[in-house]
Amino acid sequence: MTTSIPAKRAAAGALTGLALGDALGFPTEFSDVPAILAKCGPWREIRLPAPAIVTDDTQMTLALGRGLRTAMDRGVLGPKRMERPVREEFVDWYRSPENNRAPGRTCLTACSLLEDENRRWQDASQIGSKGCGANMRVAPIGLVPGLSDEQRAGAAQLQSALTHGHPTALAASDLTAHAVRLLATGAEPAGLVGRLRSYAYDNRTRYHERWLGDLWSRAQDPTPEHFIARGWDDCLAVLDRLQHAVRTVSPETDPCLATGEGWIAEEALATGLLCFLLFPGEPLTALRRAACTSGDSDSIACLAGAFAGAHLGADAWPADWADRIEYRGDLLALGALWDA
Ligand SMILES: [Mg+2]
Repeated sequence: MTTSIPAKRAAAGALTGLALGDALGFPTEFSDVPAILAKCGPWREIRLPAPAIVTDDTQMTLALGRGLRTAMDRGVLGPKRMERPVREEFVDWYRSPENNRAPGRTCLTACSLLEDENRRWQDASQIGSKGCGANMRVAPIGLVPGLSDEQRAGAAQLQSALTHGHPTALAASDLTAHAVRLLATGAEPAGLVGRLRSYAYDNRTRYHERWLGDLWSRAQDPTPEHFIARGWDDCLAVLDRLQHAVRTVSPETDPCLATGEGWIAEEALATGLLCFLLFPGEPLTALRRAACTSGDSDSIACLAGAFAGAHLGADAWPADWADRIEYRGDLLALGALWDA
């Protein structure tokens, strides 16, 4: 671990940014850009709602984070050790009275199946879903210190697969966690898309059998490698669009027009990254741009906030915003643990 991680508090920054983006995008999720502008005024001045209520994106990020903490308290992170506590946290979220923030259907369906402890998680996984629920919550995997590359990739894909089993959900979750990790450890935003493309190429036919078991056999692919390559190919296609968009789009146009509306995992990654990369040194502007989008604004802004916070650290966020975000105590507790 480098000394820059505790110095900038990347985990606290990423988790706080994620929740702030989520809260900023919550009121705008189901509106198009003209409707958002009519309601909120100029997008560069969008204010954090009061109270600053988050959605299922932050709730499930915290659930994953708590599950990881429990697993790693018990020893080295592996698939069996991770599955049980994360599964329990997801089911707790599913049953919680606070789970009333427009949760995604895939998560609800899969969690209702995960409730039965005798059911293998592969039999609960929704193999046809690549909704952004897979990666809107994955940031903790990129923030936990001390994981090997194999553990980080496997854990990112497993947390997706508990609900979203489509290969693109797995690949986009792995890639999202990798982006958070790169930024938290000092990677420059200018080189980020190139590094993500290299990672996608390097992993294109790597099926994490140790973590995923026979998940692949639920789909129609002839081999595990064929299954996971479909996911990486979707990610490589959207990274191409992102690389072009970063160089060409005006910050004043809806980012969803360039890289997609973000209801699906690879587009949420790309459009969240685009908002961050348009304003790498202006985290609030990045969040506001992400919230003022025609697509899944809360998930796009939550990912943009995670990237900005991982890059800039906890001081990126003004105290009068960070201090009033819902679940602030839980976010800071995990951040302090992983920044220590
Ligand atoms: Mg949401």
